Formats: sequence, structure tokens, C-alpha cells
Amino acid sequence: MSVMKIAKKAKERGLKAIAIVDHSTEHRFGLTERKAAMRQREIEEAIDRYDIEILSGVECGIGAGGEISLPSFKFDVIIASIHDLVYGDEYYRRVELCLKNCEFDILGHFQSTIFSMNNGWREERDLEIIDLLVENDVAVELNSYHTCPTTEFLLRASSRKLRYSFGSDAHTADRIGEIEWCINSSKYLKNGRFIKEVRS
Ligand SMILES: [Zn+2]
Repeated sequence: MSVMKIAKKAKERGLKAIAIVDHSTEHRFGLTERKAAMRQREIEEAIDRYDIEILSGVECGIGAGGEISLPSFKFDVIIASIHDLVYGDEYYRRVELCLKNCEFDILGHFQSTIFSMNNGWREERDLEIIDLLVENDVAVELNSYHTCPTTEFLLRASSRKLRYSFGSDAHTADRIGEIEWCINSSKYLKNGRFIKEVRS
């Protein structure tokens, strides 16, 4: 969809702010520097027309060494997520390396089971991830499309000052603003903070 159509739909649904987040350069059709600049112009036109806040975002896949690849562009929000079919310890290892070594704002769809029937989640590894998120001031995404992180993870983080975001992960118009699952799940994060400002 065009940015303009997304903004129109978001406005109709009463949203005040959205983020347009495309896949990064490791993806075959990902966001290059040139595409990001073109998209920025569309975002500015849509902000003018619909009077809605629109953040310019990118979602980077986390690689085997925990790395992310980013086009050189000043984004409002950077998400890092696992997109490979990895399980248990390997999944945690990559996320931990990424949290230690890369600069980004939000850990995307952590513990998603959309790509795999991953059930290798473990309490001690969850707690390590929570520590790293808090230390590095990275938010965890509550993702209503992937319906993750798990309730167990959120309960383990409930006493921590963990930042979180809401993600519809909408790939089609009908899912824009579908964040009910996120709102419900945020109740577990009793000491968490919803991110208002991502980067200045
Ligand atoms: Zn993703």
C-alpha cells in the first residue's frame, strides 16, 4: 500500500500516531537508502494531508552473528527481529548478541511462533533478555499479529521498568490499528512504560 492510503485508513480508525516500518536491506525487496528517502517524502505529504503523526521506521532481521544491516538514513524508529528458523538456545544467543552489540529501539515479535513451532523458551534465558532490554533501554514489542511475547515472558518482566511498544504488524489495510491484543497484554507489564518518544 502507499503511505497515503495507510495514513487515510489510520485516520479513519481514529489513530493519532503510526509507524511505517519496512524490512531492511537484508531483505530482497528491503528499504535501501534511496527508497527510504522517497518514502520520507510520501510520509511528509501524508502528515500534511491527514494531520496524523507518522514515524519513519525500519525492521532489521537479526543475523547469525546477532548483527543487523541498516541503510544509512535517519529513521525515527529501528526494530530488530529474528526472521530465520532458529530455536531455543540459538534464538536466545542471536537476540542477546544483537542487544549487546547493536543500536536499535525495539525488539520485534520476540518469541514468535509464526515461523516455527518454537517451544524452547526458558525462564533463565528470558530473564537474561529482560536484563539486557532494561540495561540498553530497548523496548519490547507487543505484537498483535504474531501474538508474542509469551505471557510467561511478560509475567517475568512485570516488576521491571521495561519499555514496550504496540505493533499491529499490519501487512494489509484491514489490520491497521489492530492492537487489542497488545493493550490486553500490556497489563502484565505493571511497571513497564509505553514508549512515547523513540529517538530525538
Ligand atoms: Zn518481522
